[in-house]
Amino acid sequence: MINTDAVIIGAGPVGLFVIHQLGIKGLKTEVIDNLDKAGGQCIELYPDKPIYDIPGIPSCTGKELTDKLIEQIKPFKSNFHLNERVEEVKQEEDFWILKTNKGKTFKSKNVVIAGGVGSFEPRKLSIKGSEKYEGKSLFYSVSDKTKFKNKKISIFGGGDSALDWALELSKISKVTIIHRRDEFRGAPHTLSELKKLEKLGKVSIKTKYQIDSIEGDKNIKSIIIKSDDDKKMKIDTDYILSFFGLIMKLGPIAEWGLNMDKKVINVNTNNFQTNKKGIFAIGDICSYPGKLKLILSGFHEGALASVECFKRARPNEKYRFEFTTSSKQIHERLGLKK
Ligand SMILES: Cc1cc2nc3c(=O)[nH]c(=O)nc-3n(C[C@H](O)[C@H](O)[C@H](O)COP(=O)(O)OP(=O)(O)OC[C@H]3O[C@@H](n4cnc5c(N)ncnc54)[C@H](O)[C@@H]3O)c2cc1C
Repeated sequence: MINTDAVIIGAGPVGLFVIHQLGIKGLKTEVIDNLDKAGGQCIELYPDKPIYDIPGIPSCTGKELTDKLIEQIKPFKSNFHLNERVEEVKQEEDFWILKTNKGKTFKSKNVVIAGGVGSFEPRKLSIKGSEKYEGKSLFYSVSDKTKFKNKKISIFGGGDSALDWALELSKISKVTIIHRRDEFRGAPHTLSELKKLEKLGKVSIKTKYQIDSIEGDKNIKSIIIKSDDDKKMKIDTDYILSFFGLIMKLGPIAEWGLNMDKKVINVNTNNFQTNKKGIFAIGDICSYPGKLKLILSGFHEGALASVECFKRARPNEKYRFEFTTSSKQIHERLGLKK
Protein backbone atom coordinates (compact mmCIF):
# COMPACT_ATOMS: atom_id res chain seq x y z
CA MET A 1 0.00 0.00 0.00
CA ILE A 2 1.41 3.39 -1.02
CA ASN A 3 0.42 6.24 1.32
CA THR A 4 0.53 9.76 -0.02
CA ASP A 5 -1.05 13.22 0.28
CA ALA A 6 -2.59 13.17 -3.20
CA VAL A 7 -2.91 10.65 -6.01
CA ILE A 8 -3.12 12.18 -9.46
CA ILE A 9 -4.85 10.23 -12.19
CA GLY A 10 -3.45 11.32 -15.53
CA ALA A 11 -0.04 12.76 -16.39
CA GLY A 12 -1.22 15.13 -19.12
CA PRO A 13 -0.20 18.81 -18.93
CA VAL A 14 -2.77 19.51 -16.23
CA GLY A 15 -1.83 16.49 -14.09
CA LEU A 16 1.82 17.55 -14.37
CA PHE A 17 1.18 21.12 -13.30
CA VAL A 18 -0.94 20.14 -10.30
CA ILE A 19 2.11 18.24 -8.99
CA HIS A 20 3.80 21.64 -8.85
CA GLN A 21 0.90 23.33 -7.11
CA LEU A 22 0.68 20.54 -4.52
CA GLY A 23 4.46 20.38 -4.22
CA ILE A 24 4.94 24.05 -3.36
CA LYS A 25 2.42 23.49 -0.55
CA GLY A 26 4.59 20.65 0.74
CA LEU A 27 2.31 17.79 -0.35
CA LYS A 28 3.62 14.45 -1.61
CA THR A 29 2.13 13.05 -4.80
CA GLU A 30 1.92 9.83 -6.80
CA VAL A 31 0.91 10.00 -10.48
CA ILE A 32 -0.65 7.22 -12.49
CA ASP A 33 -1.05 7.18 -16.28
CA ASN A 34 -2.09 4.51 -18.68
CA LEU A 35 0.40 5.73 -21.27
CA ASP A 36 4.09 4.83 -21.30
CA LYS A 37 5.07 8.49 -20.98
CA ALA A 38 3.89 11.74 -19.44
CA GLY A 39 2.31 14.51 -21.53
CA GLY A 40 -1.23 13.31 -22.35
CA GLN A 41 -2.69 14.73 -25.57
CA CYS A 42 0.31 17.07 -26.05
CA ILE A 43 2.75 14.20 -26.37
CA GLU A 44 0.46 11.61 -27.91
CA LEU A 45 -1.54 13.65 -30.40
CA TYR A 46 0.56 16.69 -31.33
CA PRO A 47 4.18 16.47 -30.09
CA ASP A 48 5.54 18.51 -33.03
CA LYS A 49 2.71 21.04 -33.39
CA PRO A 50 3.17 24.52 -31.94
CA ILE A 51 0.88 25.83 -29.19
CA TYR A 52 0.44 29.61 -29.15
CA ASP A 53 -1.66 30.26 -26.06
CA ILE A 54 0.45 29.30 -23.07
CA PRO A 55 0.93 32.54 -21.10
CA GLY A 56 4.47 33.87 -21.37
CA ILE A 57 5.51 31.32 -24.04
CA PRO A 58 4.79 32.75 -27.50
CA SER A 59 5.16 29.33 -29.13
CA CYS A 60 6.17 25.82 -28.07
CA THR A 61 5.41 22.34 -29.35
CA GLY A 62 3.44 19.74 -27.39
CA LYS A 63 6.72 17.96 -26.59
CA GLU A 64 8.50 21.14 -25.54
CA LEU A 65 5.67 22.06 -23.17
CA THR A 66 5.72 18.55 -21.68
CA ASP A 67 9.50 18.68 -21.20
CA LYS A 68 9.26 22.06 -19.46
CA LEU A 69 6.45 20.89 -17.18
CA ILE A 70 8.48 17.81 -16.24
CA GLU A 71 11.53 19.97 -15.54
CA GLN A 72 9.45 22.33 -13.38
CA ILE A 73 8.22 19.52 -11.10
CA LYS A 74 11.57 17.76 -10.66
CA PRO A 75 12.19 19.22 -7.16
CA PHE A 76 9.04 17.53 -5.84
CA LYS A 77 10.20 13.98 -6.68
CA SER A 78 6.72 12.74 -7.46
CA ASN A 79 6.54 9.03 -8.30
CA PHE A 80 5.25 8.16 -11.77
CA HIS A 81 3.39 4.89 -12.33
CA LEU A 82 3.21 4.66 -16.11
CA ASN A 83 1.54 1.98 -18.24
CA GLU A 84 -0.91 1.62 -15.39
CA ARG A 85 -4.61 2.34 -15.25
CA VAL A 86 -6.61 3.18 -12.15
CA GLU A 87 -9.42 0.65 -12.06
CA GLU A 88 -11.09 1.15 -8.70
CA VAL A 89 -11.61 4.00 -6.24
CA LYS A 90 -13.20 3.18 -2.86
CA GLN A 91 -13.77 5.15 0.32
CA GLU A 92 -12.36 4.02 3.66
CA GLU A 93 -13.34 6.51 6.36
CA ASP A 94 -11.68 9.79 5.42
CA PHE A 95 -9.36 8.18 2.87
CA TRP A 96 -9.60 6.98 -0.71
CA ILE A 97 -8.17 3.61 -1.71
CA LEU A 98 -7.20 3.25 -5.35
CA LYS A 99 -6.33 0.06 -7.19
CA THR A 100 -4.58 -0.20 -10.55
CA ASN A 101 -4.73 -2.90 -13.20
CA LYS A 102 -1.19 -3.91 -12.16
CA GLY A 103 -2.33 -4.66 -8.61
CA LYS A 104 -0.87 -1.56 -6.89
CA THR A 105 -2.86 0.02 -4.04
CA PHE A 106 -2.72 3.66 -2.99
CA LYS A 107 -4.18 5.35 0.10
CA SER A 108 -4.74 9.08 0.17
CA LYS A 109 -7.07 11.78 1.45
CA ASN A 110 -7.03 13.38 -2.00
CA VAL A 111 -7.56 12.06 -5.50
CA VAL A 112 -7.09 14.51 -8.36
CA ILE A 113 -8.56 13.25 -11.61
CA ALA A 114 -6.78 14.89 -14.53
CA GLY A 115 -7.88 12.17 -16.91
CA GLY A 116 -8.55 14.33 -20.00
CA VAL A 117 -10.74 12.52 -22.45
CA GLY A 118 -10.06 9.21 -20.72
CA SER A 119 -7.22 6.76 -20.93
CA PHE A 120 -5.44 6.30 -24.22
CA GLU A 121 -5.48 2.68 -25.26
CA PRO A 122 -4.06 0.91 -28.29
CA ARG A 123 -6.41 -0.03 -31.08
CA LYS A 124 -6.20 -3.81 -30.98
CA LEU A 125 -5.91 -6.43 -33.71
CA SER A 126 -9.34 -7.57 -34.80
CA ILE A 127 -8.36 -11.23 -35.00
CA LYS A 128 -10.32 -13.74 -32.96
CA GLY A 129 -8.21 -15.25 -30.19
CA SER A 130 -5.38 -12.70 -30.53
CA GLU A 131 -5.82 -11.65 -26.86
CA LYS A 132 -4.24 -14.88 -25.66
CA TYR A 133 -0.89 -13.82 -27.16
CA GLU A 134 -0.99 -10.30 -25.67
CA GLY A 135 2.03 -9.48 -23.55
CA LYS A 136 3.71 -12.76 -24.63
CA SER A 137 4.18 -12.63 -28.37
CA LEU A 138 1.82 -9.82 -29.35
CA PHE A 139 2.62 -6.27 -28.24
CA TYR A 140 1.09 -2.82 -28.75
CA SER A 141 4.09 -0.92 -27.44
CA VAL A 142 7.77 -1.62 -26.81
CA SER A 143 9.19 -1.14 -23.36
CA ASP A 144 12.34 -3.27 -23.66
CA LYS A 145 13.72 -3.78 -27.15
CA THR A 146 16.29 -6.40 -26.07
CA LYS A 147 13.38 -8.85 -25.86
CA PHE A 148 13.15 -8.68 -29.65
CA LYS A 149 16.81 -9.42 -30.39
CA ASN A 150 17.52 -12.13 -33.00
CA LYS A 151 13.82 -12.84 -33.56
CA LYS A 152 11.38 -12.77 -36.45
CA ILE A 153 9.21 -9.69 -36.00
CA SER A 154 6.09 -8.73 -37.95
CA ILE A 155 5.19 -5.08 -37.51
CA PHE A 156 1.73 -3.77 -38.46
CA GLY A 157 0.89 -0.13 -39.16
CA GLY A 158 1.75 2.77 -41.43
CA GLY A 159 2.51 5.58 -38.98
CA ASP A 160 5.64 6.78 -37.22
CA SER A 161 5.58 4.14 -34.46
CA ALA A 162 5.51 1.28 -37.00
CA LEU A 163 8.24 2.81 -39.20
CA ASP A 164 10.48 3.88 -36.31
CA TRP A 165 10.37 0.46 -34.65
CA ALA A 166 10.86 -1.34 -37.98
CA LEU A 167 14.02 0.70 -38.54
CA GLU A 168 15.27 0.30 -34.98
CA LEU A 169 14.59 -3.44 -34.69
CA SER A 170 15.98 -4.19 -38.16
CA LYS A 171 19.41 -3.58 -36.57
CA ILE A 172 18.99 -6.59 -34.28
CA SER A 173 16.30 -8.78 -35.89
CA LYS A 174 14.52 -9.94 -39.03
CA VAL A 175 11.69 -7.47 -39.60
CA THR A 176 8.65 -7.52 -41.88
CA ILE A 177 6.49 -4.41 -41.96
CA ILE A 178 2.91 -4.89 -43.13
CA HIS A 179 0.54 -2.07 -44.06
CA ARG A 180 -2.91 -2.14 -45.62
CA ARG A 181 -2.15 0.78 -47.97
CA ASP A 182 0.66 1.64 -50.37
CA GLU A 183 1.20 5.04 -48.74
CA PHE A 184 2.67 5.34 -45.28
CA ARG A 185 1.72 8.16 -42.90
CA GLY A 186 5.05 8.11 -41.08
CA ALA A 187 8.04 10.37 -41.72
CA PRO A 188 9.23 10.10 -45.38
CA HIS A 189 12.94 9.94 -44.42
CA THR A 190 12.29 6.89 -42.16
CA LEU A 191 10.43 5.22 -45.01
CA SER A 192 13.27 5.88 -47.46
CA GLU A 193 15.75 4.40 -44.96
CA LEU A 194 13.56 1.29 -44.75
CA LYS A 195 13.34 1.05 -48.55
CA LYS A 196 17.14 1.15 -48.73
CA LEU A 197 17.29 -1.70 -46.19
CA GLU A 198 14.69 -3.63 -48.20
CA LYS A 199 16.95 -3.47 -51.26
CA LEU A 200 19.76 -4.90 -49.13
CA GLY A 201 17.42 -7.71 -48.04
CA LYS A 202 17.45 -6.56 -44.40
CA VAL A 203 13.77 -5.62 -44.12
CA SER A 204 10.69 -6.88 -45.91
CA ILE A 205 7.86 -4.41 -46.73
CA LYS A 206 4.41 -5.80 -47.58
CA THR A 207 1.80 -3.24 -48.59
CA LYS A 208 -1.90 -3.67 -49.33
CA TYR A 209 -1.88 -6.59 -46.91
CA GLN A 210 -3.79 -7.11 -43.67
CA ILE A 211 -3.60 -9.79 -41.04
CA ASP A 212 -5.80 -12.80 -41.75
CA SER A 213 -4.90 -15.25 -38.97
CA ILE A 214 -2.33 -16.24 -36.39
CA GLU A 215 -0.82 -19.71 -36.10
CA GLY A 216 0.64 -21.04 -32.89
CA ASP A 217 -0.20 -22.59 -29.60
CA LYS A 218 1.12 -20.79 -26.50
CA ASN A 219 3.31 -18.53 -28.59
CA ILE A 220 2.96 -17.26 -32.14
CA LYS A 221 4.70 -19.39 -34.77
CA SER A 222 3.56 -17.71 -37.97
CA ILE A 223 0.97 -15.33 -39.35
CA ILE A 224 -1.08 -15.38 -42.52
CA ILE A 225 -1.56 -12.04 -44.26
CA LYS A 226 -4.10 -11.38 -46.98
CA SER A 227 -3.91 -8.90 -49.87
CA ASP A 228 -6.76 -6.81 -51.23
CA ASP A 229 -7.17 -9.35 -54.05
CA ASP A 230 -7.30 -12.27 -51.59
CA LYS A 231 -3.73 -13.43 -52.10
CA LYS A 232 -2.50 -15.10 -48.90
CA MET A 233 1.05 -15.28 -47.59
CA LYS A 234 2.55 -17.05 -44.60
CA ILE A 235 5.27 -15.29 -42.57
CA ASP A 236 7.24 -17.05 -39.86
CA THR A 237 6.87 -14.82 -36.81
CA ASP A 238 8.04 -14.88 -33.20
CA TYR A 239 6.59 -11.52 -32.27
CA ILE A 240 3.84 -9.26 -33.62
CA LEU A 241 4.09 -5.55 -32.93
CA SER A 242 0.90 -3.74 -33.83
CA PHE A 243 0.70 0.04 -34.13
CA PHE A 244 -2.80 0.96 -35.28
CA GLY A 245 -2.96 4.13 -33.19
CA LEU A 246 -4.72 4.89 -29.95
CA ILE A 247 -8.32 5.19 -28.97
CA MET A 248 -9.56 7.15 -25.99
CA LYS A 249 -11.72 5.35 -23.50
CA LEU A 250 -13.26 6.96 -20.47
CA GLY A 251 -12.96 3.52 -18.93
CA PRO A 252 -13.41 2.88 -15.23
CA ILE A 253 -13.79 6.57 -14.21
CA ALA A 254 -17.45 6.31 -15.23
CA GLU A 255 -18.04 3.71 -12.50
CA TRP A 256 -16.82 5.64 -9.47
CA GLY A 257 -20.18 7.21 -8.55
CA LEU A 258 -19.16 10.69 -9.64
CA ASN A 259 -21.64 13.23 -10.85
CA MET A 260 -21.06 12.88 -14.57
CA ASP A 261 -22.64 14.52 -17.55
CA LYS A 262 -21.90 12.60 -20.76
CA LYS A 263 -18.14 12.02 -20.47
CA VAL A 264 -17.19 14.86 -18.13
CA ILE A 265 -17.32 15.27 -14.35
CA ASN A 266 -19.25 18.12 -12.74
CA VAL A 267 -17.26 20.13 -10.23
CA ASN A 268 -17.76 23.23 -8.12
CA THR A 269 -15.53 26.10 -9.15
CA ASN A 270 -14.44 27.06 -5.61
CA ASN A 271 -12.05 24.13 -5.36
CA PHE A 272 -12.83 21.78 -8.28
CA GLN A 273 -14.12 19.12 -5.94
CA THR A 274 -16.62 16.64 -7.33
CA ASN A 275 -19.72 15.36 -5.53
CA LYS A 276 -17.33 13.16 -3.47
CA LYS A 277 -15.28 14.97 -0.84
CA GLY A 278 -11.58 14.58 -1.55
CA ILE A 279 -12.06 13.68 -5.21
CA PHE A 280 -11.21 16.55 -7.53
CA ALA A 281 -11.48 16.81 -11.31
CA ILE A 282 -9.40 19.26 -13.35
CA GLY A 283 -8.47 19.79 -17.00
CA ASP A 284 -10.46 18.47 -19.96
CA ILE A 285 -12.36 15.96 -17.83
CA CYS A 286 -14.11 18.53 -15.63
CA SER A 287 -17.22 20.50 -16.42
CA TYR A 288 -18.76 23.71 -15.08
CA PRO A 289 -20.58 26.65 -16.69
CA GLY A 290 -18.22 28.38 -19.11
CA LYS A 291 -15.57 25.64 -19.08
CA LEU A 292 -12.95 25.98 -21.85
CA LYS A 293 -10.97 22.88 -22.78
CA LEU A 294 -7.66 24.72 -22.77
CA ILE A 295 -4.39 23.93 -21.03
CA LEU A 296 -4.32 27.30 -19.28
CA SER A 297 -7.79 26.68 -17.78
CA GLY A 298 -6.54 23.33 -16.43
CA PHE A 299 -3.57 25.06 -14.77
CA HIS A 300 -5.91 27.44 -12.92
CA GLU A 301 -8.20 24.58 -11.89
CA GLY A 302 -5.22 22.66 -10.48
CA ALA A 303 -4.05 25.70 -8.47
CA LEU A 304 -7.44 26.03 -6.77
CA ALA A 305 -7.86 22.28 -6.18
CA SER A 306 -4.44 22.13 -4.51
CA VAL A 307 -5.58 24.52 -1.76
CA GLU A 308 -8.44 22.23 -0.71
CA CYS A 309 -6.11 19.20 -1.00
CA PHE A 310 -3.76 20.94 1.46
CA LYS A 311 -6.58 21.60 3.93
CA ARG A 312 -7.64 17.94 3.80
CA ALA A 313 -4.10 16.52 4.03
CA ARG A 314 -2.98 18.90 6.81
CA PRO A 315 -6.12 19.57 8.90
CA ASN A 316 -4.06 20.90 11.81
CA GLU A 317 -2.12 23.44 9.78
CA LYS A 318 -3.37 26.78 8.59
CA TYR A 319 -3.22 27.40 4.86
CA ARG A 320 -1.24 30.54 4.04
CA PHE A 321 -1.36 32.08 0.59
CA GLU A 322 2.18 32.88 -0.57
CA PHE A 323 3.88 34.16 -3.71
CA THR A 324 6.59 31.93 -5.16
CA THR A 325 8.82 35.00 -5.65
CA SER A 326 9.03 35.75 -1.94
CA SER A 327 8.22 32.61 0.09
CA LYS A 328 11.29 31.12 1.79
CA GLN A 329 9.40 27.89 2.41
CA ILE A 330 8.57 27.52 -1.28
CA HIS A 331 12.19 28.28 -2.20
CA GLU A 332 13.31 25.50 0.13
CA ARG A 333 10.83 23.10 -1.44
CA LEU A 334 12.12 24.08 -4.87
CA GLY A 335 15.64 23.31 -3.65
CA LEU A 336 16.82 26.88 -4.32
CA LYS A 337 19.97 28.16 -2.68
CA LYS A 338 19.47 30.70 0.09
C1 LIG B 1 -4.50 18.51 -32.02
C2 LIG B 1 -4.75 19.25 -30.75
C3 LIG B 1 -4.27 20.55 -30.61
C4 LIG B 1 -4.49 21.26 -29.41
N1 LIG B 1 -4.02 22.55 -29.30
C5 LIG B 1 -4.18 23.23 -28.13
C6 LIG B 1 -3.71 24.57 -27.98
O1 LIG B 1 -3.15 25.16 -28.91
N2 LIG B 1 -3.89 25.18 -26.76
C7 LIG B 1 -4.53 24.58 -25.71
O2 LIG B 1 -4.65 25.18 -24.63
N3 LIG B 1 -5.03 23.32 -25.85
C8 LIG B 1 -4.88 22.63 -27.02
N4 LIG B 1 -5.40 21.36 -27.15
C9 LIG B 1 -6.15 20.79 -26.02
C10 LIG B 1 -5.19 20.34 -24.92
O3 LIG B 1 -4.27 19.39 -25.44
C11 LIG B 1 -6.01 19.71 -23.78
O4 LIG B 1 -6.84 20.72 -23.25
C12 LIG B 1 -5.07 19.19 -22.70
O5 LIG B 1 -4.25 18.15 -23.18
C13 LIG B 1 -5.89 18.66 -21.51
O6 LIG B 1 -4.97 18.23 -20.57
P1 LIG B 1 -5.38 17.14 -19.45
O7 LIG B 1 -4.13 16.98 -18.63
O8 LIG B 1 -6.64 17.59 -18.80
O9 LIG B 1 -5.73 15.81 -20.24
P2 LIG B 1 -4.93 14.90 -21.31
O10 LIG B 1 -3.89 15.68 -22.00
O11 LIG B 1 -6.01 14.27 -22.13
O12 LIG B 1 -4.24 13.80 -20.40
C14 LIG B 1 -5.01 12.89 -19.65
C15 LIG B 1 -4.16 11.69 -19.28
O13 LIG B 1 -4.91 10.89 -18.34
C16 LIG B 1 -4.66 9.52 -18.60
N5 LIG B 1 -5.78 8.71 -18.01
C17 LIG B 1 -7.12 8.87 -18.18
N6 LIG B 1 -7.81 7.97 -17.46
C18 LIG B 1 -6.90 7.24 -16.77
C19 LIG B 1 -6.98 6.15 -15.84
N7 LIG B 1 -8.13 5.62 -15.43
N8 LIG B 1 -5.81 5.63 -15.37
C20 LIG B 1 -4.61 6.13 -15.76
N9 LIG B 1 -4.48 7.16 -16.63
C21 LIG B 1 -5.60 7.71 -17.13
C22 LIG B 1 -4.58 9.45 -20.13
O14 LIG B 1 -3.85 8.31 -20.56
C23 LIG B 1 -3.85 10.78 -20.45
O15 LIG B 1 -2.45 10.62 -20.56
C24 LIG B 1 -5.20 20.65 -28.34
C25 LIG B 1 -5.68 19.34 -28.49
C26 LIG B 1 -5.46 18.64 -29.67
C27 LIG B 1 -5.97 17.23 -29.80
